[in-house]
Amino acid sequence: MPILLLSPGRKLDRWTEALRKTDPAVPVFLPEDKVPERDISFILAWDHPRGCFVRYPGLRCISSFGAGVDHLVSDREIPENVRLVRIIDPALSNDMLEFTLAVIMKHLRKLNIYNSYKTEVKWKKHGYRRIRETGVGIMGTGVIGHHVADGLSRIGFDVSGWSRTMGGKASYRKFHGVEQLNEFLSRCEILVCLLPLTDETRGIIDYHLLKSLPGDAYLVNLGRGAHIVEADLFRALDKGLISGAHLDVFESEPLFEAHPFWKNSKIDITPHVASLTDPLSVAPQIMENYHLVMQGREPKNQVSRSRGY
Ligand code: NDP
Repeated sequence: MPILLLSPGRKLDRWTEALRKTDPAVPVFLPEDKVPERDISFILAWDHPRGCFVRYPGLRCISSFGAGVDHLVSDREIPENVRLVRIIDPALSNDMLEFTLAVIMKHLRKLNIYNSYKTEVKWKKHGYRRIRETGVGIMGTGVIGHHVADGLSRIGFDVSGWSRTMGGKASYRKFHGVEQLNEFLSRCEILVCLLPLTDETRGIIDYHLLKSLPGDAYLVNLGRGAHIVEADLFRALDKGLISGAHLDVFESEPLFEAHPFWKNSKIDITPHVASLTDPLSVAPQIMENYHLVMQGREPKNQVSRSRGY
């Protein structure tokens, strides 16, 4: 039984190579290979055409190419018996920590300002806020968010984490649930969103939330674009409720040319690169899940459809 890789518009050579290298006995195919649909029981997918999975009568498991699974959970046509799994990879979590640190330090040490001074040939010094004086809040302390929160806390930031449930002990202060959200927000001079996109978290970063942050706070969105109500972000920036934002994810990607984010000097943009899945690093876990499914066993790192993540 082959593995099918489905990710329209994306070059998949590194993925096919990594999977074939990990287990040469397992056939790995792309849609253009025209494998009969009835032969497919395991699919690796990203941004698939909605509803396409009903074409595969023997499908047993769909694995996301990455940690995010909103593209799968939101497709209500995926039959209930098909297991959904995601990637959990320490390298992915660590890359996210490094990126978050880079963005926070860029903001704290005002590097954007000095970049603009270079074009103006201007020599001017500014004060800055130190790590130990900065409260950072991580929304979503799951596999990735916890690693980021823990890492930032060990570096010396005053870190708070917010999640849906209480969870265990941590090196940072923990908050959970809607009832503790405001207390959490009041501690976030820098707010980092690492939530999954679910019915509950869609649009969670709205005007009310941004208003609940300490004055001059900075927003870093690494979760999903739809976590933010865009009009509310513009309003909060215009009113000076927050000082700026770094956005790595967008409702529609690539971010289209005419989008007002591009022109807003208080918004920095990166093209969904905070943490990229490395095919070689994750191919073994994908193959392991493939074999578990082929043996009629439960795959690892399953996603709960009812929770949405
Ligand atoms: P996990 O599923 O491990 O963690 C999700 C976290 O969010 C958990 O702590 C969970 O709470 C919390 N959460 C979920 N719903 C709510 C809610 N309604 N209220 C409060 N907290 C909630 O996900 P990962 O850490 O693996 O990944 C997080 C997200 O990061 C991905 O879904 C993806 O969107 C994004 N991502 C972005 C990348 C990028 O390059 N920009 C790369 C990789 C991922 P609890 O612990 O109580 O369950």
